[in-house]
Formats: sequence, structure tokens, C-alpha cells
Amino acid sequence: MSEQARYWVEGFLNGTEPDPSVNKDGDVDFENQEYRIWTQAVDLFHETGYWTDEERKCEKCGSALLQSEPIEVCRNCLSKN
Ligand SMILES: [Zn+2]
Repeated sequence: MSEQARYWVEGFLNGTEPDPSVNKDGDVDFENQEYRIWTQAVDLFHETGYWTDEERKCEKCGSALLQSEPIEVCRNCLSKN
């Protein structure tokens, strides 16, 4: 990928990032567990380019999947295979 294309893709992904959840005052709570999960999900989103608003669980272990997880199996279970 050319340098220009790479910047475009990064900009595109950054521009389409979903917003983190906010508290009742409309502020992002950086200490919140939800925010930590959101940052993990966004990191993964930059890899996968995938995002869903559906709440899903891992087909193998039943743990909650990140919203940017492209398949129905969590990273833990994937790395065990
Ligand atoms: Zn799992």
C-alpha cells in the first residue's frame, strides 16, 4: 500500500470510529470499565475495520465479544486453536 493510501485508510478509520459511551452529563468517563472495553474495541476496529452494535457472545466460551470482533469467536478462544 502506498504511503498516501495508508494515510487515507487511517483517516477513514479514525473518522468512522464510533463514539465512546458517555455518562449522564454527556462526558466520557475515562475510568469507566465500559470506556476501557471501548478503547480495546477501537484498537481492534483499526485492524478489522468491522463494527456492530449488536451484543454478541463468543460461540465457544460465552464471554462478551468486542463490537469490532469480525467473527463470533473471541480472541482468547482463537489463540487456543
Ligand atoms: Zn471465547
